[in-house]
Amino acid sequence: MTLANGRRYLAIPGPSVVPDRVLAAMHRAAPNIYHGELIDMMPALFDDLRRVAHGTANVAIYIANGHGGWEAVIANLFARGDKALVASTGRFGSAWAEAAGQMGVAVDVLDFGKRSAIDPARLAETLAADRAHVIRAVLMTHVDTASSARSDIKAVRAAIDAAGHPALLAVDAIASLGCDRLLFDAWGIDVVVSASQKGLMTPPGLSIVWFSDKARLASERSDLVTPYWDWNLRSSSPEFYRKFAGTAPTHHLYGLRQALDMIFEEGLEQVWARHRTLARSVWAAFDAWGRDGDIELNIVGTAGRSHAVTAARIGGGGATRLRAWLEHNAGVTLGIGLGMAEPSDPTYDDFLRVAHMGHVNAHMTLGALAAMEAGLQALAIPHGTGALDAAASVIAAHGGD
Ligand SMILES: *Cc1c(COP(=O)(O)O)cnc(C)c1O
Repeated sequence: MTLANGRRYLAIPGPSVVPDRVLAAMHRAAPNIYHGELIDMMPALFDDLRRVAHGTANVAIYIANGHGGWEAVIANLFARGDKALVASTGRFGSAWAEAAGQMGVAVDVLDFGKRSAIDPARLAETLAADRAHVIRAVLMTHVDTASSARSDIKAVRAAIDAAGHPALLAVDAIASLGCDRLLFDAWGIDVVVSASQKGLMTPPGLSIVWFSDKARLASERSDLVTPYWDWNLRSSSPEFYRKFAGTAPTHHLYGLRQALDMIFEEGLEQVWARHRTLARSVWAAFDAWGRDGDIELNIVGTAGRSHAVTAARIGGGGATRLRAWLEHNAGVTLGIGLGMAEPSDPTYDDFLRVAHMGHVNAHMTLGALAAMEAGLQALAIPHGTGALDAAASVIAAHGGD
């Protein structure tokens, strides 16, 4: 007999939980798109998008998901045959590289595997070897949602500079924006791509690209860009319809407005701190379970771990069994393992991900962990004790470290 009836919790790394305030803001009749409230709220919306990325950058909004945003960046930044260096730390890094290759960019992939963040020293070596400066841009994933590896953007920028290389730095912050600290200007980023449905707590449908003036200049020589993806009119036209190359994503804009209000009401620093503590409570639980079972976090060092999502392994197919148990018995849906093993591989069922991304608080994360503990017991999956104590201790100490 199920205990799943009640409010369900979708703890997957996107789409994330949509706050009631965001849903309510979107629940309205179609607005006037010629003049009035929606048009008037755009300057502040763009300003707040800059604010959430700590940047003075140009901003373009697309009706697209993250994959669309990837293509927007590639189309604007490169000409056919240009070289991109993609630093990959999991499924999302390699997928961005594939998209670039399919669009006609010559892609070199620097693969850091599925279990670690970018090693800036290796990146610096690769760039130093490019004496002719053929590489036009470095593409990196801030948080790879599949592996949950988080790379140090500032260190990557320092590696590019240390190599004396002029490459631009483009960052996929789709999983991290609004969850992990990100400083566009201070960290010397040229391009950030994000999407509405993760830390920005709005349904899937918007992709947002921030780009520096340097990146804008570089885009003047692109021969890949088509009218829809061109970031220039989107970011600079005073005409409302040109900002979207057609009809605006009206309701999503109202939702995003509300989500940004919520972020700034809480304070961006507090939002980052909340994610950090919730992540650490999840890590503490897994550490305890793993002390007496074949259970482990995917990323070993804490500095290389995302604060938005945690990838883990539960051996013997335990991950898939636990996910199914949670969905049917507890009303909790965890993320599937992504790109960690082929479906034909017997270890395919050993991977899962716990999201703690966006509109998530202590009781949601502790509730998910307690439900996981119950599932491990019900399924007789060997695990260490004390996980919930450990997680609660992290929550109890919040703000005190
Ligand atoms: C979710 C995600 C994407 C893909 O976004 P879609 O909206 O599914 O296209 C790309 N990169 C990262 C890091 C993500 O987390």
